[in-house]
Amino acid sequence: MTQLETPVAPSAADSLPRHVRIATIGAGFSGLALGMRLLEEGMDDFVLLERKADVGGTWRDNTYPGCACDVPSHLYSFSFAPNPDWARTYSQQPEIYEYIRRTASDSGVLANVRFGHEVQSSRWNDDEQHWEIETSAGSLTANFLVSAMGPLSAPAWPKVDGLDDFEGKIFHSAEWDHDHDLDGAKVGVIGTGASAIQFVPAIQPRVGKMHVFQRTPPWVLPRPDRATTRLERWAYRRFPVLQKITRTLVYWRQELIMVPGLVYRPKIMKLGEIASRWQIRRHVQDEKLREELTPDYRLGCKRILISDEWYPALAADNVEVVHSGIEEVRANSIITADGTAREIDTIILGTGFRATDAVGSERIFGRDGTNLHDSWDGSPQAHLGTTVAGFPNLFLLVGPNLGPGHTSVVFYIESQVRYIMKTLEALEERGATSFEVRKDVQDAYNADLQERMRGTVWTTGGCNSWYLDETGRNTTLWPGFSWELRLRTREFDETEHVLRRAATVDDRDQASVAA
Ligand SMILES: Cc1cc2nc3c(=O)[nH]c(=O)nc-3n(C[C@H](O)[C@H](O)[C@H](O)COP(=O)(O)OP(=O)(O)OC[C@H]3O[C@@H](n4cnc5c(N)ncnc54)[C@H](O)[C@@H]3O)c2cc1C
Repeated sequence: MTQLETPVAPSAADSLPRHVRIATIGAGFSGLALGMRLLEEGMDDFVLLERKADVGGTWRDNTYPGCACDVPSHLYSFSFAPNPDWARTYSQQPEIYEYIRRTASDSGVLANVRFGHEVQSSRWNDDEQHWEIETSAGSLTANFLVSAMGPLSAPAWPKVDGLDDFEGKIFHSAEWDHDHDLDGAKVGVIGTGASAIQFVPAIQPRVGKMHVFQRTPPWVLPRPDRATTRLERWAYRRFPVLQKITRTLVYWRQELIMVPGLVYRPKIMKLGEIASRWQIRRHVQDEKLREELTPDYRLGCKRILISDEWYPALAADNVEVVHSGIEEVRANSIITADGTAREIDTIILGTGFRATDAVGSERIFGRDGTNLHDSWDGSPQAHLGTTVAGFPNLFLLVGPNLGPGHTSVVFYIESQVRYIMKTLEALEERGATSFEVRKDVQDAYNADLQERMRGTVWTTGGCNSWYLDETGRNTTLWPGFSWELRLRTREFDETEHVLRRAATVDDRDQASVAA
């Protein structure tokens, strides 16, 4: 790991204010984007409550070898904080982490972050028209609550018999144990998703033997990555407009190449399958292995992965791809359904995250005392992925159906942040103390979303992916062009909401006089 340059000052636990206008949970890309925007607008009556000791979220936690973004960095970054110095097209985790820390530090938002404050519960008090928030280091109240707890911040552990009885080393890719020596190790990798295809090639040359347990093969496209040149970096610094142009071109390339196939005409995705098959043929000589690595569903149905190193790593002499399902884990081995036992001393879980669980939703209690998790009953729903009926003055960042299947999530986050600012402005103008989206508006919006899902590759592509919740609905992705969301969130529509104005002390006095 590289040395981190930007100091992040831990804030004192006792400096938690008793009341703020806005309390945001989480200080990753989304919480910070909102915090920085609030400061820009001259509002500093807010806190970002972060359970850990640093900002960065995903990019603080995922430190596994080979960890990098899979959307070009010029787009996968804040539009208001361009970084002319990106070292590669797809930056590695240390550089993204440092970028987030530096941007946060430069903006002054760190003064509003309370580290080591894990939010345990937040309850809406309808009489007082505020949220009551309990954290691991004190409590406070807030007029508005923003959940920015991250779509992929809760690692998913697989349900495998005997996992607890394993006597070797076991860890999840999002909690990489850098002290564990992998040189010569007998490694079992469970999962072949976005993280595994990055760390498997990175550790393959070091390990003694690696067994990659694959349930379903992913489609893997070539990764057009390269180091940026000094000339490019100089040009971006000297003429910032050039970087804006590059960002715009990358944005439109992602929209125009990906969305038509993913959303409207899944057959178009066959073109990508040709490129992926070509990668397999080029790097894998063994006919049987080629077959096992070729997916039998449409490209895009599961997350599209990009790598030039995945297939060469799987074809290496010290790697075995195991197609047979895992039956159980024993003290020093993994047993597959065909009865084979493989000796293992290290298990690395590349099993991803609990994406459809909506992290922390069990900690947010609405107007009638029910928490978000229970009110969703296994199928998260919101209006514009941001507000939820029954939960006044609550905003969700990267909420239901706001995951991008094809572009940078930061674009969605910035759309939502604008929407939040518009909403706050509108409420202030109308003297409202709370707002809540109408249930019928939310239902109609979600019915329309699911209707739009029907013809997409995610529902017709013949796979079962982590995009689908336990009811089989895709509540993870936005089914359209990302600019459609930007347009739909550009104004707060009062007719879609119920606004309330709390009784002031004067009103209460009047009421008691009348009585
Ligand atoms: C390895 C990896 C690579 C990725 N690459 C890309 C990519 O290339 N492009 C892309 O668009 N997306 C990518 N993503 C998705 C990524 O999650 C988002 O892009 C982005 O980081 C989300 O930011 P966030 O702030 O919403 O969430 P996070 O970064 O997860 O931050 C959430 C924060 O909330 C804190 N928190 C959670 N619960 C609590 C609590 N109860 N109390 C207090 N604090 C809490 C967490 O500690 C964390 O700091 C990737 C994800 C992973 C895991």
